[in-house]
Amino acid sequence: MKYHETLDRGSEIENRLNELGKISDTPGVPGIWRAILTDSDFRGKSLIRSWMEEAGLNVREDVFGNLIGRLEGEVPETIMVGSHVDTVKDGGKYDGACGVVTAIEAVGALVKNGWKPYYSVEVVGIEEEEGSRFDLSYPGSYALVGKLSPEELAICDEEGTALKDLMEERGYDWKNIAKADVRSYVKEFMELHVEQGAVLDREGLSIGLVENITGMVDFDVTVHGEQNHAGTTPMYLRKDPMVKTAELILKLTEAVKSISSTGVITFGEMQLHPGVANVIPGSVHFIVDMRDGNREALLKEESAVAEILSAASGDGFDVEFKMYNHEDPVPMDSVLVDDLERCVQEASIPYKRMNSGAGHDSMIIAWEIPTCMIFIPSVNGISHSPKEYTKPEDLGRGCEVLGRMLVKRASEK
Ligand SMILES: [Zn+2]
Repeated sequence: MKYHETLDRGSEIENRLNELGKISDTPGVPGIWRAILTDSDFRGKSLIRSWMEEAGLNVREDVFGNLIGRLEGEVPETIMVGSHVDTVKDGGKYDGACGVVTAIEAVGALVKNGWKPYYSVEVVGIEEEEGSRFDLSYPGSYALVGKLSPEELAICDEEGTALKDLMEERGYDWKNIAKADVRSYVKEFMELHVEQGAVLDREGLSIGLVENITGMVDFDVTVHGEQNHAGTTPMYLRKDPMVKTAELILKLTEAVKSISSTGVITFGEMQLHPGVANVIPGSVHFIVDMRDGNREALLKEESAVAEILSAASGDGFDVEFKMYNHEDPVPMDSVLVDDLERCVQEASIPYKRMNSGAGHDSMIIAWEIPTCMIFIPSVNGISHSPKEYTKPEDLGRGCEVLGRMLVKRASEK
């Protein structure tokens, strides 16, 4: 693929994303929603299937409903490339879909140019990454790496319908979910995805090479003080846990900022007891959500937060806390990331190495199969919104990098 072709490719990808974006279970509102085993899911996948076939791929669905288009190489060992086909509720046209459509476009262009790979290539449209219908994280990618069990499929949606019953009804062999496992023949996985943040857009770059997918630590904190009358209690007699919480939030934020430039800390959930305007609260409960792509920094941040919270009790306050979640960052395969970097440099596309602040299918697959991720910019960093947008020229550049990478990796013996 030549650089001058990428702009045309970008418009073609944009057209397809617009077409796919019309398929939604919530018609009449700007935001779209495609979740597993809904009418829009079937219609969306059937459109994607037609594009895969047009690109010269042999298409099948696995037992979970992941859509897979295969290009046979000289050997059965396979390089898999793709992203997810589902969306969040009230989502946009780019998240997930752009990775699938771009991969089809890249492979299709190569096939048209007479490319015959040594390794086989599969484009995959992964099911239910967002878990927007069933409260399951990344079931499609877990299925691909043999880590989804039939028991987990007993989970019900909000209406009380079990996933396994729906699968049974539609002919998916849920009892043999292990058949979706691709580990025996897939040697590498690649995913192109929108950044879902504003870094590339702000810096005017077209490509991000993901080094790590962020790790995450969560603390559950309750600050106990003394509940009392808001009018009769003078300031010097108060043990107001909300004021204490405000101090803690500033301290914890400063601590994370001083440890790492890649760390982020969020206080997005808080309850005050009793939570009425004319009562000094008796206690404040909040969640600390901390993320960092750098494992050492995340560990340092974790101990700094624990230390600050441990020291916060006393003087009439009691601070209870527990860490209830720790997920290490997931590194991408360094050989693949280096190769991606060469591809981007050969195409003279402005880029940077970066971490992903959001979780992706690649995070699940990377534990089992060497994996890499390409980011393209989200305009104004907006995602999980109907306003999600990526410029066609960046879609084209993403496609070019993916195409070059496939040639580099799949032609090698
Ligand atoms: Zn996504």
